[in-house]
Amino acid sequence: MTNDNNSKIVPVLLPIPLGGRAFDYKLPVGVTHIERGQYVTVPFGKKSVVGIVWDGDPEGKINPSKIKAISEIHDDMPPMSQQHREFLKWVSKYTMNDLGPVLKLSISVTDALEKPKKIPAYILNKNADLSAVKMTDKRQRVVDFLKDKKGAVPSHEIKEKCDVSQSILKGLSDNKILKIYSVEPTFSQDKNTDIKRPVLNDAQQSALDVCLRQQQESFSVTLIDGVTGSGKTEVFFDLVEKTYDDGFQTLILMPEIALTQQIIDRFYKRFGFYPLEWHSRLTPAQRRDNWRRIVKGEARVIIGARSALFLPYKNLKTIIIDEEHDGSYKQEEGVMYHARDMAVVRSMVAGSHVVLVSATPSLETLDNVDLGKYESVKLESRFGAASMPDIHIIDIRKDRPEKDHWISPSLQDALLKNFERHEQSLLFLNRRGYAPLTICRSCGHRMTCDHCSAWLVEHKRFHRLQCHHCGFAVPTPEACPECGAIESLSACGPGVERLIDEIRELIPLAKVVVFSSDNMTDPDILKNTLHQIQRGKFDILIGTQMLAKGHHFPNLTTVGIVDADIGLSGGDLRASERTFQLLHQVSGRAGRESKKGNVYIQTTRPDSTIVKAMENNDRDAFVEAELAERDAADMPPFTRLVSLIISGEEEDMVRGFSKDLARHAPSNDVVTVFGPAPAPMAVIRNQFRYRFLVKAEKNINIQKTISHWLSSLKKPNNIKIQIDVDPQSFL
Ligand code: ADP
Ligand code: ZN
Repeated sequence: MTNDNNSKIVPVLLPIPLGGRAFDYKLPVGVTHIERGQYVTVPFGKKSVVGIVWDGDPEGKINPSKIKAISEIHDDMPPMSQQHREFLKWVSKYTMNDLGPVLKLSISVTDALEKPKKIPAYILNKNADLSAVKMTDKRQRVVDFLKDKKGAVPSHEIKEKCDVSQSILKGLSDNKILKIYSVEPTFSQDKNTDIKRPVLNDAQQSALDVCLRQQQESFSVTLIDGVTGSGKTEVFFDLVEKTYDDGFQTLILMPEIALTQQIIDRFYKRFGFYPLEWHSRLTPAQRRDNWRRIVKGEARVIIGARSALFLPYKNLKTIIIDEEHDGSYKQEEGVMYHARDMAVVRSMVAGSHVVLVSATPSLETLDNVDLGKYESVKLESRFGAASMPDIHIIDIRKDRPEKDHWISPSLQDALLKNFERHEQSLLFLNRRGYAPLTICRSCGHRMTCDHCSAWLVEHKRFHRLQCHHCGFAVPTPEACPECGAIESLSACGPGVERLIDEIRELIPLAKVVVFSSDNMTDPDILKNTLHQIQRGKFDILIGTQMLAKGHHFPNLTTVGIVDADIGLSGGDLRASERTFQLLHQVSGRAGRESKKGNVYIQTTRPDSTIVKAMENNDRDAFVEAELAERDAADMPPFTRLVSLIISGEEEDMVRGFSKDLARHAPSNDVVTVFGPAPAPMAVIRNQFRYRFLVKAEKNINIQKTISHWLSSLKKPNNIKIQIDVDPQSFL
């Protein structure tokens, strides 16, 4: 910006999918200087768009007289830091997405830059004659509360603190006892310094010491590797406190934040304030408010889902990633990124500290520990009196359930005895709905989705057959749509809803709850149900993985895993790893307090590495065997994969274009291209899908190779290419 002609023209990056470049804009009249990273509103086509004053020189292609001017500079907001801008550039290159959509991850809230709406607030009228009005208890509480307040107090705060309704405030102001104002909403997270923090045991203390030491480095990653219930959360809470006391922001990432009210409550008890939430269930107004608080640095502890990583923090120092192995950290659409990996990148660029937390770390992370890139600390036993549960393996080929039943005699026995002891049991089956497949007994027809290559899943509660990939649903038909036979459609296999029938038969008096994403969509129902489970209102919980994650139910002592083999059938790269992690996590729900836990695992493969490792509580054995297999097959974490998904409405075109691409595919010593092949999910939402899988040595710039490859051929407009670097899903 030294050139005189250009001195009042700056590049502005917009969060829109239009190429990777910034557009030129003029500074408004009278403005001579603007900082990089500043939030600005600019005219774009017929719209106004919020963007960022970007790095580099103006493009200079357009005649300066035609360049439009910035319409507003949002200088009440701190500019997006240079480190954050560097981070976004890095993500754009790595995931092979244009900068626009990547920037959109950071400013997803379009109206956040508007000045916040003022809210009503009240102040006590010093000259008021209190004896002139009828003083009820409620009115008195408000008067007492406001008596020694300096400024006006927002009405929501008065209502909350005094437990009164708006009509009380209105009554008092009608009587001139209170004066009404409007103020800008304020926000703060003030720690309650009176709360005594728990005393860490020796193992926890040394884990914390390592974290604190690592935090002093300019960039570091620490793995807290501890068994379920070992007190990992308490350790990172202490680290949060240190970061807070030093005046920096902390981000705690959780796999499914909506499920983890427990940790938010726990946080409140420990610190006396709530962490600020960021996830998809926030209302638009909450998103707007929270975004501003994060950008302005008023929010100092943020707890969020993967998307929270991209927010433009003011001074983020520590990122904690709980259950770092969890698959939901991978974003599977749009910009496909892995929040754990990108958190490490963010910290590398910004010079900060990442803490990964897990009882079953991913093989990628364990490999990085082996390589000395990450530091690791271990917590080997449960905190206090709790011990690890006993594991019982049930070979259901011998210990057979009855026909159309799925609970073996030994598991039945365990559930009955636990019910008699008044302790809680969890039946785990990672399958939603009533039955995964509906088949006609007369002609063998299988009910499939009209738009995807997938079976329809029966949901009895709604009398529907439903597709879990696109949401397509039909009422459960009376007759087979293929052969017309009446009452011949039959449910095959169990889903969680079907297990209820079996439990009712076995223990008619038991209070049972089914817990899956189908019946827990409403946040209030979800929260309530979790509270009821904690308080012991239910004897038997039947749940999908939604119930396996992170919960602490004090009286839950028996866990039954209905089908341990379920996740292995797809046979993708991480099938074994994911299955092991899930089994381990579900098992970890049993016996988390003083009562002994028991876990029953039903399987047809009692001799498999996974089941043996579970039985002997020997995670290392599993990890070693799995790493050896990956090594032998030249697979991640020892190499890098990239998926290309070619899709479109016409199958011939998709196949034709894929074959053309294949002819131009790179082929050398360090890159191998597999495919094209029809994807396992060959059709999703009427789109035909073909896949390539690219495998490369880790140290080469695979993105460059791929973009070179793709640029060798012109892509027809009705064909889409999706690039997935480090894919988790192979469907
Ligand atoms: P993890 O995160 O490893 O699953 P938690 O941090 O949830 O383990 O700890 C398990 C249980 O032990 C919780 O109820 C927690 O409150 C308790 N706990 C852990 N550490 C301490 C401590 N130092 N003092 C008191 N209670 C603790
Ligand atoms: Zn479908």
